[in-house]
Amino acid sequence: MPCVLVVEDDPSIRASLIEILSEHGHTVRSTGDGFGALREVTQGALDAVVLDLGLPDLDGGDALRMIRGISNVPVVVATARDDENEIVRLLNAGADDYLVKPFSGAQLIARLTAVLRRTAAPGPAAGQARAADPMSPVTVGELTVDPLARSAHLAGRELALTRREFDLLAFLARHAGTVVSRRRLLADVWREAYIEDQTIDVHVSALRRKLGERASAPRYLRTVRGVGIKLVAPH
Ligand code: CA
Repeated sequence: MPCVLVVEDDPSIRASLIEILSEHGHTVRSTGDGFGALREVTQGALDAVVLDLGLPDLDGGDALRMIRGISNVPVVVATARDDENEIVRLLNAGADDYLVKPFSGAQLIARLTAVLRRTAAPGPAAGQARAADPMSPVTVGELTVDPLARSAHLAGRELALTRREFDLLAFLARHAGTVVSRRRLLADVWREAYIEDQTIDVHVSALRRKLGERASAPRYLRTVRGVGIKLVAPH
């Protein structure tokens, strides 16, 4: 049963969110302010957070960044402003999705279900070391990726990666052996609504170079044309 934290200062909205989520089989914890949210996130065991951005004690964007500083828990932000720039800013700051107030219970459940599906750990594939905890180190062949230390080693040698290259590699490592679509990379690694078409390719090429392989002779990074990319242990 997924556990969802509701952060909402308006008691009547909070009560109705709790009711809707409980009806849909979620365990719900709730708090009315930003510091309460940080306390709850620190305690862990959360599958998602629904974060109202108009909180009495903290700017919602700051609350989001502080949550991101301590946890990768999926966050759906609820904003009163239907402003594209604001929404892009929030997605860049680490929100997984957003709802514009007023939203319906059906919208809330749909967004939350999608976010939980995206972030659920996939089942283990044969021959792959896979961690259910997204922060545990993952080993694929001679490659080890440690999300907490933000370091990656190939055959014991540390790779010098940019922040985005690391995020891309860590995401692919967490889903090693399965094809990850471009759409999913956009949603979960870039977390941006609009990027240049070539942006992913540019980062994949850079990563390839640092892993010491070429597109014509791939080892770890296998591009599946028209579908996406997967990280595998080389034969
Ligand atoms: Ca509010």
